[in-house]
Amino acid sequence: MPTHADNPEPAPRQAPLGVSIVAGEPVTPDPGSETFAAINPRTGDALPTRFYAASIGNLNDAANAAWRAFHAARDHSPEDRATMLELIARRISGMAGAIIPRCMEETGLPEDRLAAELGRTTSTLELFARVIRNDTWKRIAIDLPEPRRKPTPRPGLRRVLVPLGPVAVFGSSNFPLAYSTAGTDAASALAAGCPVIVKGHPLHPGTGELVAQAVCGAVRDAGFPVGWFSFLHAGGAREHAVGAELVRHPCVRAAGFTGSFEGGAALAHVAAARPDPIPFFAEMGSTNPVFILPGSVETEPAGIAQHLARSISIFAGQQCTCPGLIFLVQGRATETCIERLGRELAEAPATPMLAARIRKRYLSLVERAIDTPGVRTVQGDNAAIRSAVARPVDSQPAFEKPFLMRTTEDVFLEQETLHDEIFGPAAIVVECKDAEGMLRCAGLVQGSLTGSIFLSNTDLDLARALTGILALRVGRVVFNGVPTGLEVGYATVHGGPYPATNRPDTTAVGPFALERWCRPVAFQNAPAALLPPELRDANEPGTHRIVQGSLTQESITPRKHS
Ligand code: NAP
Repeated sequence: MPTHADNPEPAPRQAPLGVSIVAGEPVTPDPGSETFAAINPRTGDALPTRFYAASIGNLNDAANAAWRAFHAARDHSPEDRATMLELIARRISGMAGAIIPRCMEETGLPEDRLAAELGRTTSTLELFARVIRNDTWKRIAIDLPEPRRKPTPRPGLRRVLVPLGPVAVFGSSNFPLAYSTAGTDAASALAAGCPVIVKGHPLHPGTGELVAQAVCGAVRDAGFPVGWFSFLHAGGAREHAVGAELVRHPCVRAAGFTGSFEGGAALAHVAAARPDPIPFFAEMGSTNPVFILPGSVETEPAGIAQHLARSISIFAGQQCTCPGLIFLVQGRATETCIERLGRELAEAPATPMLAARIRKRYLSLVERAIDTPGVRTVQGDNAAIRSAVARPVDSQPAFEKPFLMRTTEDVFLEQETLHDEIFGPAAIVVECKDAEGMLRCAGLVQGSLTGSIFLSNTDLDLARALTGILALRVGRVVFNGVPTGLEVGYATVHGGPYPATNRPDTTAVGPFALERWCRPVAFQNAPAALLPPELRDANEPGTHRIVQGSLTQESITPRKHS
């Protein structure tokens, strides 16, 4: 494998330069480029570096380089890609001392949380490296030819997944590492054999640039063409423009998005309106409903309340899996549980939101909820909410305390605005009249990443019915636990029906995320020499099982690459 040992690069930077990185090189900004700064949400102060938004020229260069790199590196093996992923992980870990402090300044998130998120980012890269070292994920299917079949000979068919080409990646504000520059979308696309162009998030541009530097170094070390990875800043007057231009670019063949419903919907529209529409995978907002069944709330009203309070309030509720709707059946234990939840949240400290504009949106959605007839406040200050909403978005410190509201089943069933995500530390408790009412509410919750059920032994019938409903409405059903704290493994599903995502058929996290960046292709009666290596020697006994007509587990028996 080619290396760059003869051409040593400078030591990793400790601070961002403020410029995009195109095909491995920091670009010189065009004169008069739009600039913007990152804001420290704990102080409201602008951080020193000025960032230059990518120009159309930068974007064209990145997309064209990615296209050329895709074709130039098509013969690189899965082992080469696995090595690249491991090198990215190693370089990111090596730069943690620069990345984490910068990220703390840009997001207000605490050090331990960001250290854990960095660990999750690198372990996800390593997981994908392990996965692509054998062909299991490629859904290979082989129909051997039957030349003597009557009345017509049967052709030989071999099917495999192939990469789509350059992928555009949009990270989110609230996971500046695990769902951003080298996060799950970028890692899975690189693993699948697709070059990546990241559109940096304007709320953590310096973090993104430092991580991009680590990725570019690893791409180079692994012997891939430099166009395999680029990073484009966007902000100021070019905030939405860079993203839309990227999704429209003819060399971009797919895109992955993590963020708000509005952003996901806007960019999905751009992808669909191209002359050649491309796959667009948007992971958006989620209400993560929690159902606390009667037997369970009788048993431990306070314990469940404590558990939930932490899940709602941690990191100011800015998690895609934050529980926003809590359903209980009315009764004495339910009152105890709600009262305790309110108390726990009242005692939770105010924590910084990621940005003034996110705080503003949060407050206006809470205001909309408290203005809904039939909604009451359990804990939180309505007057403070109203006066904060009335103030213009500014760069004041953005600390917020949690907010808990309650309403009834009837109001919830009627008022559709209560079904929407409130991104931040707010939740609405819905009191149902009985088990039937709870099932009616479950049938109406929006498509969501998760749904949780707290149950005891006496709740099994209701839990069974609820599980059936939730399996149609959410990507992950959690029993006796809170939805925050996603475990990344082979069986992880981080997805769900619209509006949690626009693609309920897949997951953004875990090995199955790879398939998003590929499409199937079948080779009919192909000479062995012309087949992709993984399909070539399948006639030899013991390498592949043969499947006639349909895909079964047998047809995707793992085979190690040499
Ligand atoms: P966001 O404001 O939508 O930003 C996400 C990305 O989209 C940014 O790069 C942003 O860049 C771009 N963007 C937004 N609107 C756009 C538009 N109209 N046209 C073009 N580009 C656009 O979202 P966020 O504040 O970062 O994230 C918070 C949301 O993400 C919450 O709703 C949360 O639930 C969700 N989230 C979901 C998951 C999941 O896995 N499902 C994970 C984390 C977060 P520009 O500003 O430069 O345009």
